[in-house]
Amino acid sequence: MDKEKLLRSIPSVDKILFFLKKEERLLEHGNIRTTSVIRSTLAEVREKIERGKITATPTMKQISDLVIDTIETENENSLKTVINLTGTVLHTNLGRAVLPDIAIQNLASLGAGTNNLEYELIDGKRGDRDIHMETLITELTGAESATVVNNNAAAVLLCLNTFAQGKEVCISRGELVEIGGSFRIPEVMEKSGSTLREVGTTNRTHLRDYEAAITENTGLLMKTHTSNYKIQGFTHEVEHHELSNLSAKTKIPLFSDLGSGTLVDMEKFDLPHETTVQELIESGTDLISFSGDKLLGGPQAGIIVGKKNLISRIKENPLRRALRVDKLTITALRAVLQLYLHPEQLTLNLPTLAHLSRKKEEIFSVGQEILPELKNKLSSIASIDLLAVKSQIGSGALPLDQLDSFAISIRPVDQLDSTLQELSKKFRMLPNPVAGRVTDGKLLFDLRTLDKASLFLEAISDLHIR
Ligand SMILES: *Cc1c(COP(=O)(O)O)cnc(C)c1O
Repeated sequence: MDKEKLLRSIPSVDKILFFLKKEERLLEHGNIRTTSVIRSTLAEVREKIERGKITATPTMKQISDLVIDTIETENENSLKTVINLTGTVLHTNLGRAVLPDIAIQNLASLGAGTNNLEYELIDGKRGDRDIHMETLITELTGAESATVVNNNAAAVLLCLNTFAQGKEVCISRGELVEIGGSFRIPEVMEKSGSTLREVGTTNRTHLRDYEAAITENTGLLMKTHTSNYKIQGFTHEVEHHELSNLSAKTKIPLFSDLGSGTLVDMEKFDLPHETTVQELIESGTDLISFSGDKLLGGPQAGIIVGKKNLISRIKENPLRRALRVDKLTITALRAVLQLYLHPEQLTLNLPTLAHLSRKKEEIFSVGQEILPELKNKLSSIASIDLLAVKSQIGSGALPLDQLDSFAISIRPVDQLDSTLQELSKKFRMLPNPVAGRVTDGKLLFDLRTLDKASLFLEAISDLHIR
């Protein structure tokens, strides 16, 4: 049959809709979704005919099946829980921090009704949404004042815009970071309306470099946590307390983008030291921003703490309205911050710290529970072992530090990369997907972040090999 004839034989959208209705397959997915998928499916069929890939008219049944398959696959792959066994505890692509139970309870109960988000219960007047978090944050950090926005990128943008629009920001060349997902300090600065004034060199920056860079048009002195890299060797960095002296002398505020930002001393959990928010406040830093969903272990948010007069200028910036957090973020963040009032219980109650501080013996025993069932399923095509590996914290926290852990290692007996890729896809495409990492011809499932063996065993009950 010639192409023209084939193209003319394609049924119309309405006819397919009618067919699906008759077959009682329309109701479940709704008209809007179905119509749009019929259109895209027909476009694909047309294209295949034009490229000579289809040489006979597809039947109404074939097209309809294709439409329903597409809808179901798209539904299936949309936002859902994934078991993160990549070895990166705070994985940005996998939604970063796992929320604690108490935050989940708060989300469910607050989301189900209306609330006093901006409403003073005492006098029935309009209130400020920050009050639900500000006292907690200032108590925990020692800061005078605080506000919360959508994420740390927004927090940085807001601080720069409030204090340095039309002005210069002095920052060390060694701190012009790029965080994954296109957050780059120089670009954010440009969007904030401020001008970057690079100070010092990549490896060495001195106080005199900042002093020489300051003019009457300097709006901010800035430091950034070099979250995802470390400059080593012949280096010099100006510490916060030195810059805060310069800031006091010149009356130019000192702003620090702390990135991950933690409220507890990580060494208490046998983790490497990470500068805490409290330490920066004590160093005299005027303004500090950090993420809610990195080391803090909460929902996505950007927290800004600092001097009262500076925070109140931020609160007056109209841009803050565009970057504000919603009630769900606030209630989840409140729950997480409250856990920090009992720091000794954090490794029990806060999943992020529980995972980071987990002992390798415990991780090993989870592995031993999983091993037999996995061997049972996969031994015909792969060799399965329990391997000592290193996990990482992720999200730019403590970039060079790696934690001792154990992983299930799956190595295809045919040693083919294609088999390995196929296997890891099978795990990713499970109804409850499992994400691992592929290295050196092996698929690794790092068990640091697997709370219970049963979660994994349930997920793989849907795994079928040939
Ligand atoms: C992660 C990070 C950011 C961005 O924070 P988000 O919460 O992801 O918006 C900004 N600055 C630094 C130094 C970071 O590590």
